[in-house]
Amino acid sequence: MWLKNLNAHYLLFGFLASVTIIADRLSNHMLKGTIILQVNLDRVINDIETLATFTATPGNGVTKSSYSHEDKLAKEYLKNEMEKIGLKVWQDEFSTLFGRREGKNPDAPVIMIGSHYDSVVNGGAFDGVAGVVAALEILRVFQENNIENDYPIEIIAMNAEEGETFGPGTGVSNSRALVGTLTEKELDTVKNRHGLTKREAMKAYGLVPDLAKAKREKGSIKNFIELHIEQGPVLDNHQIDVGLVEYLPGIGRYKVKFHGSLEDSTAPMASRKDAMVAASKFVLAVNQIVQSLGTGITGTVGEFEISPNSHQFVPDYVQASVEIRTFDKKDS
Ligand SMILES: [Zn+2]
Repeated sequence: MWLKNLNAHYLLFGFLASVTIIADRLSNHMLKGTIILQVNLDRVINDIETLATFTATPGNGVTKSSYSHEDKLAKEYLKNEMEKIGLKVWQDEFSTLFGRREGKNPDAPVIMIGSHYDSVVNGGAFDGVAGVVAALEILRVFQENNIENDYPIEIIAMNAEEGETFGPGTGVSNSRALVGTLTEKELDTVKNRHGLTKREAMKAYGLVPDLAKAKREKGSIKNFIELHIEQGPVLDNHQIDVGLVEYLPGIGRYKVKFHGSLEDSTAPMASRKDAMVAASKFVLAVNQIVQSLGTGITGTVGEFEISPNSHQFVPDYVQASVEIRTFDKKDS
C-alpha cells in the first residue's frame, strides 16, 4: 500500500474535480444544481498498483515499452475492467484501446477521456496511468449512478506515446495516428532497442497497422480530457493539488554530432581534438544561453553516444540530443 502514503490525495482531488465538472454539465439536463458523485479510492489504488506490476524491471520502477509483453498484460487488464462496466471495447488499427459508453445520441461527436499506459524505462507508476485509471473510474461511477450521458464517451488507453521506445521524434504515436499525421514511412524507418522497426514490433505484438483506418474524422471528437501527473515540480513545490492546462509547451528536439580525431590516451593534451570535450562545452553553453532567456524556456542535453567510449582513447565522435521547451505563448 505504498501508494496510499505517497500521492493518493492528489488523485482523489483530481478525480473529484473531473467528476464534479462533468456532473455539473449533466445537471443542466437532469437536475438543478450540481450533483456530487463519489469515486472509490481503493479501486483506483488497486488499478494503479496492478498496472505497476506489469513491468520488465521489477523493483526498479515501471518499464512498460510499446508493444512489449508488459504492454499486452496491461491492455488485457484494462480491457477486462472496461468490459466489467459494459463498455464496448476494441483495439483500433494502431493498437489504441477504446472503451465506449453510448450516449443518448449515438451519432454525436465523442467525448474522449484517457491517457497513455506505456512508460519510459524505469518510469513512475502514475505517468499516463493516472489518466487512464481516472477515465475508467469516472465511467464506473457513471455506471453505478445510472448516469445518462448525451454524448458518447470513450476511454482511450494509448500504448505508444512515450518517445523512448523508438527514439526522439517518435512519441505521441497513438495521438498522431488518431489525427492522421503519423506516416507509413515512420513505421518502417525508426527502430526500438531490439532492432525492430515500428511495423515489425507491431506485427510481433499481433497487429498489422492500418493508418487510414485508425484515423478519426475531423469533427468526430468533441473533447479530449486528460488527467496527467505534473511533469515539472511547480505544483508540487507550491503544494497545489491540481492545475488546469492553459496551453502546451512548444517542443523542439535536435540531434548534434561532434567530430574529432581518434587518438590514444597518451596523445599530448595540446594537440588533441577530443569530441567529448567539444560536447561538454556545448552542454555548458546550452545551459548558459537557455538560462539567460528567462523562465519561459528550458533546454536539456542528453542521450550521449560516445565513440570509442573508453578512458584509453580520445573519442573522435560524440552524438547527443537536445530538447528545447518553451512555456511562453510569446516568442522566447
Ligand atoms: Zn505521460
